[in-house]
Formats: sequence, structure tokens, C-alpha cells
Amino acid sequence: MPLVTSKEMLLKAQQGGYAVGAFNAENMEMVKAIIQAAEELKAPVMIQTTPSTIKYGTLETYQAIVAAEAAKASVPVCLHLDHGSSFDLAMKALKAGYTSVMIDGSKLDYEGNIEVSKKVADVAASMGIPCEAELGKVGGKEDDLVAVADTNTDPQEAREFVERTGVTSLAVAIGTAHGFYVGTPVLDKERLSEIREVVDIPLVLHGASGLSDEDVMDCVKRGICKVNFATELRAAYSKAVRETLEDEKVFDPKAYGKAGIAAVKELVMARMKVCGCDGKAE
Ligand SMILES: [Zn+2]
Repeated sequence: MPLVTSKEMLLKAQQGGYAVGAFNAENMEMVKAIIQAAEELKAPVMIQTTPSTIKYGTLETYQAIVAAEAAKASVPVCLHLDHGSSFDLAMKALKAGYTSVMIDGSKLDYEGNIEVSKKVADVAASMGIPCEAELGKVGGKEDDLVAVADTNTDPQEAREFVERTGVTSLAVAIGTAHGFYVGTPVLDKERLSEIREVVDIPLVLHGASGLSDEDVMDCVKRGICKVNFATELRAAYSKAVRETLEDEKVFDPKAYGKAGIAAVKELVMARMKVCGCDGKAE
């Protein structure tokens, strides 16, 4: 089917008490793997690209690949701009046919974040496209953005932020970090529950690569409706490709591409089950 927006799938997730998995893709193989996993599990799915990925492959190219693969699928597929770094990039993504955008103003001060988030949310809303924003800083390194982990989202600020910007989903910082964890992450789950009490739009968890299944499930129970997975997909893809290329006789990109697809598909299916979105596209 044609690409769908994230609006309905996230509201359904919120009502149903599960989360939609949002998976970062870097190339055609990863797009295929994610959609095959969604198809097999009858799950709604979000595919997303960061600014550095877009710089590598361009918005138009990723949009064309994802739209072509989604057209063959029976499950709803949404294409989302992850960590949109500027108003301009968000506008370009909308123009290129992305069906969901994130504006990440979390590196700005509170008022600056509100200003840019409202600006993007207003234009997106006029086109019927949902807009995610981030308040507080998710730690670690995502793309070119490096943040510190001790700036968790304040519940009352979150309530005011949502009211003033009109964003339709909110990424919260509760102690997760981008990239892989070195130690065991300490999540402030009470804070998540407090945010949920005062914010009624779908909440988003970033930095889920390497979190335990129990932690992800607990966060979903406390109100997370979208969980982002990026780093571990890249790792699974590269590991499978590397292993295939150990055989020096392999020279066909299709050979190691297939290995990469299989590895990513398996991981995505496992993560979808943890999010509870399997079977939810039926
Ligand atoms: Zn993120």
C-alpha cells in the first residue's frame, strides 16, 4: 500500500498499550529486511533516516526505495525523518514525500526548542503530517549530535512544551543513550510515568539498542508508543556482511546483501515482538 503517516499507527498503539517499532535504514537491503519482518509479523512499521544517512543517500532516494517496497506490502509503512536537525531539512523531507517528521531542537534552550518545533509542527499539520519533537537530551552519540545523559525530561516542562508547540508525539529523555551501552543503563521509569500523567500525546523512546527486553516492555507499559532502534541494526547488518566476505571467493554484492537482509530481518522481528506490535496490522 502507499506510505501512510504515523498518526493512526501511533494513536492505535497508544490505545492498545503497545509500541510501534521505528527502525533506521541505511540502504535498500535494510529497508527490505524491515518491511519483510513487518509483513511476516503483520506489524505496522516506521522506517526512518537520520540527517547523516540522508546526506549519504539523499531524501529522494530513500523515499523512492521505501515507497516502492511499501507499495508491495500489505502492512502499513511510514517513512519518518529521524532527528531532523533544522526547519529546512524538515521542509525538504515533507517535500520529498516523507510521511512523518521529527524536529530535534533539544540542543537549543527551552524557548528555542519550542520555537523551531512549533514552526515545523505548524507546516506539517497543514499537510496532514505528524511531527515528533524531543525535550531533554537523550545521551550518547546519535548522528552528529552528542548529548550528555543527565538532562532528563521535566514532566511539567513537557506538558507546557506540547501545548505551546502542537507537536503530535514527544521523545523523552529518561536515561537512555544512543549507541551501545557500556554499562547497565539506569532508567528513570518513575519520571516516564509522571510525564505520561500530564502529557496525552504518544511518547517516544530513543536509544533502545541494547536495552533489555524487560526495560523496553516496562517503558511501553508506562506509556511509550514508539521505540527507535538504530545502532544494533547497523551492527547486525555489518556483522553478517563481514562474515560472508570472509570467504574471499565471494564477490557478488547480492550474496552478502542477502546475508545482511536475513540478519536485520531476524533482529527486527525480535524487537517488534518486544514492542508488542506484532499482529497489530491485521
Ligand atoms: Zn534518537
